[in-house]
Amino acid sequence: MPLLADVAVPVPLSQAFTYEVPAALAGEVRPGARVLCEFHRRKLLGVVLAVSERSAAIDPSKIKPLAALVDARPALPAELLSFLQELAAYYFAPIGEVLRLALPAIEREQVRALKAQGELNGVLDLGRAKQVGGRKVAYARATDAVEEPGTLRGQAAAVLALLRANGEQPVARLEERFGNARSALKKLAERNLVALDEREPPRDPFFRLAEARDVPPELNAAQAEAAARIDAALAAAPAPGAGEHRAGAPHEPRPAAPSAFLLFGVTGSGKTEVYLRAIKSCLERGRGALVMVPEIALTPQLVARFRARFGDALAVLHSGLSDADRHAMWSSLHGGKVRVAIGARSALFAPVPDLGLILVDEEHDGSFKQEEGVRYHARDMALLRAHRAGAVCVLGSATPSIESVALVRRGKLTELRLPDRAHREASLPEVTLVDLRRFGAGPSGDSLISLPLHRALEKTLAAKEQAILFLNRRGFAPSVVCGSCGTLTTCEACSVALTYHRGRRRDAPPPAAGAPAAALAAGAPAAPAPAGAPAAPPMDERPQGGRLRCHYCDYAGPLPDRCAACGSRTLLLEGLGTERLEATIAASFPEARVARLDRDVAGKDRSQAILARMREGKIDILVGTQMVTKGHDLPNVTLVGVVNADAALGLPDFRAAERGFQLLVQVAGRAGRRDRPGRVLIQTRNPEHPAIAFAAAHNVPGFLDREIRDREEVGYPPATRLALLRVDAVDESVGRGAAAKLAAHARTCPEGLARRVEVLGPSAAPIARLRGRYRFRVLLRARERGPLRGTLAALVGLMRDGLDRNARVIIDVDPVAML
Ligand code: ADP
Ligand code: ZN
Ligand code: ZN
Repeated sequence: MPLLADVAVPVPLSQAFTYEVPAALAGEVRPGARVLCEFHRRKLLGVVLAVSERSAAIDPSKIKPLAALVDARPALPAELLSFLQELAAYYFAPIGEVLRLALPAIEREQVRALKAQGELNGVLDLGRAKQVGGRKVAYARATDAVEEPGTLRGQAAAVLALLRANGEQPVARLEERFGNARSALKKLAERNLVALDEREPPRDPFFRLAEARDVPPELNAAQAEAAARIDAALAAAPAPGAGEHRAGAPHEPRPAAPSAFLLFGVTGSGKTEVYLRAIKSCLERGRGALVMVPEIALTPQLVARFRARFGDALAVLHSGLSDADRHAMWSSLHGGKVRVAIGARSALFAPVPDLGLILVDEEHDGSFKQEEGVRYHARDMALLRAHRAGAVCVLGSATPSIESVALVRRGKLTELRLPDRAHREASLPEVTLVDLRRFGAGPSGDSLISLPLHRALEKTLAAKEQAILFLNRRGFAPSVVCGSCGTLTTCEACSVALTYHRGRRRDAPPPAAGAPAAALAAGAPAAPAPAGAPAAPPMDERPQGGRLRCHYCDYAGPLPDRCAACGSRTLLLEGLGTERLEATIAASFPEARVARLDRDVAGKDRSQAILARMREGKIDILVGTQMVTKGHDLPNVTLVGVVNADAALGLPDFRAAERGFQLLVQVAGRAGRRDRPGRVLIQTRNPEHPAIAFAAAHNVPGFLDREIRDREEVGYPPATRLALLRVDAVDESVGRGAAAKLAAHARTCPEGLARRVEVLGPSAAPIARLRGRYRFRVLLRARERGPLRGTLAALVGLMRDGLDRNARVIIDVDPVAML
């Protein structure tokens, strides 16, 4: 019988392909190793999933031999390989694409050897190989060439639009954003629309941070208890090396000791210190650890704390790394030289040796869900990977996700609580709700800077303390409306309003009219509103050089002269974005140093520079989006203002209340983290909303209880399980037709007929058109996972060959983004 290998190749197909192992390679080709194999006349780099001696299920003459073996030592350890296969099955994702998430760049020597054997295609084609070994980073920029109208679709069009709008970008950053960035760039480069080149990498900001070793503080009682429980779980976990066996035998029973925890600690309670101790005990037991954080670029301080404790024993995985550095990190983990990895979502796939511990910090954070390409949830998959590897998993948060709380209630997670702030003098801040229906505009004239907020800012400045203002809208004005006919300016490609961005101004912010510092300090009555502050400045004071931007498709264009519908010249800039908030605050508080942190200013290491300045006390008022809510530990911040708490609560998404609540508690948690008491002002028109009322009372368990009950009542997760079929097409009727067909098929498959799966839709998505494509969806809902999977399996065949080719269908298991 021939020796056959099942090989996954990087194509969007879910099956593996069979190749014959040539006699010369017998015994050397092992699961997890990369091989070169012929696929439709191209040589592709594949990964061996299994090797066995058996008679082929297909015509033996059709089975080709493997062309070459790339790795003597499998690139993917057995534990990781089997985890990836399970992940692919769970999400109905093509195995080749899933493997790609975990594969390292290839080394230069290997490439040379492979080139000598014949041409290289597929994954190697895009020049990643070239960059490895040379300390270079690949950049992409749009050329002056113009495409034939209508010839670009999907991510190629999106990538090009982004490059045109935002200028040159590192390829690594594009890849983070677009699952198919590489193939899109290849296509664009072939048509000369994009130029790719390589350059010296920017200096890695994480290695610039001081690396003085710190002295671990003595744990308080709650921290000590949590650390002891985790340590006991590590002690009970199977010995090093056992993980690999377990992976091969997934039906082995779980160890009796609890091995998955929810570390529920209020903001500032010292969760990080518990993580550090857990890693230490994991390392002492000879096993490796993996730490996942929401956005590594925003958490240099956190990374610094890990580096201060573990030094070079820590691999920091982030998007700013050059391919060479990334590869170096990958091989030092793979080779067992470094045993701890920290990174964002994609760190889930790091080849940590003898994995003994996975930590997920801020586990509630939405960024753990990948929304492009393979749509996986890194928190859910952390639990799976840990379970399979016989490792301990710790999810940490001050505002645990409803999903995790449900797992605690079902006994699948063990809860560990840190009820108090770690600094003895620190207490949770006092929260005041400002009802915007009762309080009008303060001296700035902007109704969203109420008198109480204005006064609180004055007091903070007078005390030489710092304030954070949180507003969930970037740009200057969230909408542009015609003053005559009321028409909203929308994106041509998407059914959303365009946001006006004023951009960087060369001149200083407008001087505040008659609001000198002395008057403010004396508590003088409100000065008249400074120029630029009224809610809707008319056209004549329209700033120069601003752009209209679409926040969904990266369209950017000039502000039109007149209304497209009626020709009127009075276009009004409506609403308040962070840019305008920054300008208005700067004008109202001329003595204050005001800065802004949002995605528009956060390019490269700017966000770290801004946070560093904040920490050094060089900023008095920091204005920003969610980016200011992340776990920053800024000791001198005593005031947090939530400018508009209602903005997030009205979204058509069953998680809107949960997300709004989390944001409020997290941003409030930035105040009063040391000895000075903190104060939080939440502005709202809806103070009775449970998310707001519970956040104001610091009552996280109360909110969780209520929200779980609500979800049970309306039948949303965690009471049920969801899968979302996302359908889109350039032609509206094509999209609608495909969605209808999917829904009908789901209703008539056995699970649908038996009513074990509820089929909702087809319906238009809340954002009905995006990047020129009409969007529809079918929501599948079930009490149990089994029938849901059965239905999805029944739909996969239809998706492959029963639908209009111009419709694109994506299966999103456990969807997070509902828009
Ligand atoms: P969290 O991650 O829970 O928000 P942190 O880990 O950032 O909290 O801790 C908040 C602050 O308390 C930090 O400045 C940290 O150094 C400090 N801290 C943590 N544990 C202790 C302890 N046992 N004794 C004194 N200070 C501590
Ligand atoms: Zn008009
Ligand atoms: Zn758009």
